[in-house]
This record gives sequence, structure tokens and C-alpha cells, in this order.
Amino acid sequence: MSAHNQKTMGCILLGAPGSGKGTQAKRLQVLFSVPHISTGDMLRAEVAKGSELGKKVQEIMTSGKLVSDELMMEVIEERFKAADVKSGYLLDGYPRTVKQAESFEAMLKRLNFPEPRVVYLELENQILVDRLLGRLSCTKCGAAFHNELNPPKKSGVCDLCGSALVQRKDDSEDTVVKRLKVFETETSVLLDFYTKRNHLKKIDGRLSVDKITEAIRQVLQ
Ligand code: AMP
Repeated sequence: MSAHNQKTMGCILLGAPGSGKGTQAKRLQVLFSVPHISTGDMLRAEVAKGSELGKKVQEIMTSGKLVSDELMMEVIEERFKAADVKSGYLLDGYPRTVKQAESFEAMLKRLNFPEPRVVYLELENQILVDRLLGRLSCTKCGAAFHNELNPPKKSGVCDLCGSALVQRKDDSEDTVVKRLKVFETETSVLLDFYTKRNHLKKIDGRLSVDKITEAIRQVLQ
């Protein structure tokens, strides 16, 4: 693959489920003209298609566990072969374990990408639970709404693309608690991983959506 310009804008959005990574990535992809890569959205699309990969991951996802690091690395390697990542990327939901972070770091070096910037959206568990249990997700574009905090203009319909809104299977009460535990045990250690590399910027996830977008924009510019 060709060498990448140091201006390539690579960003990892870290944060627990419900912290606002997807919402921010959708806005930032417009501001920076780089693709939003959500591994959760990619896997959900495979499940919807009924592909081999989809069949392998369906149960794991519904239970709130993590898909294996090996499988995730294959998914990311494949995605990074596409031309659109040359200008940069906004990663949402990847990496989620130290092993993933290590293989991702090695892949970036191999492909001659600059080191990524990492933003952590920090938020306490009770707020995350409230957000996830009321979340409504678009079946087509993945946009998120909330039945009380951010209701769609028309009930059950996505404001952005007009498709149906549903509650994700893994936004049920049991699974939400499980996913937050998985975040605490597997993913929060990444904060150390990236702090040691001097790449981490923490942002208060309670701020308004606009303020968070602005704070991330400043980090990335
Ligand atoms: P998300 O939409 O990011 O909350 O992801 C939904 C589900 O997809 C997770 O609970 C995992 O089961 C799976 N998943 C997404 N990204 C990853 C990843 N990087 N590593 C392992 N599993 C993942």
C-alpha cells in the first residue's frame, strides 16, 4: 500500500456503550470527510445479511460478549484495504481489548499510517444505563435517538433517513449490565495503553452533543 500523508486523520473514539461514540462519529465524518467505521454496525449488517460471519457473531452479540480478537482483526484488516481510509478514519467500537489495540498498532505501522489520536468519552454508569435502555436505533443508518432524552420527530421513524427505529436486542436490561461489565474489564485498560503512548484525550461525556463535537474537533485539528 502507498505511503500515507502525515495529515491522514486517524481517530479512535473510546468510551463505554452509550457514551455517544456513534453520535459523535456521525457528525465528525461530515466535518473531516473521513469514514466512520463502527465495528458494531459492520457486524450487525453481517447478521442482517445472514452471512457466514453474521451467523458466527449473532449469539455473541445478543449476549453482550465480545467477538474474538482474531475475527475482529480480520474484519478491520479487510476494511482498511478500502481506498476511503487513505484520508483517515473515525473508529467507533474498535479496539476493545489490549490485544486488538496491539494488532491495530502493528497494522497501522505495516500500512504506513501515522499514529492515531484517541478520544475517551467519560461518563458514569447510571447515565449510561439510562441512555442505553431508552435508546432507539435506526435499522438503516445506525443513527441513535432516545425515547425521552432525544425523541425522533415522528415516532418510530429515523429523522435522518426515514427508516424504522428499533430497540437493539443488546439494549435490553440484562445485556446492558453485562456490556458495561465487559467494558470495565476488557476495554477500560486501553486508557492506560494509550495514556502511555501520550495519545489520550479525555472529554466529559455529560456535555451537550455540540460541545463534545467541538471539543473533539479541536483535538483532531
Ligand atoms: P457496539 O455497536 O459497538 O456496541 O457493538 C455491539 C456488539 O458487537 C458488541 O457488544 C460485541 O459483541 C460486538 N463487537 C463490536 N465491536 C467489537 C470489537 N472491537 N471486539 C469484539 N466485539 C465487538
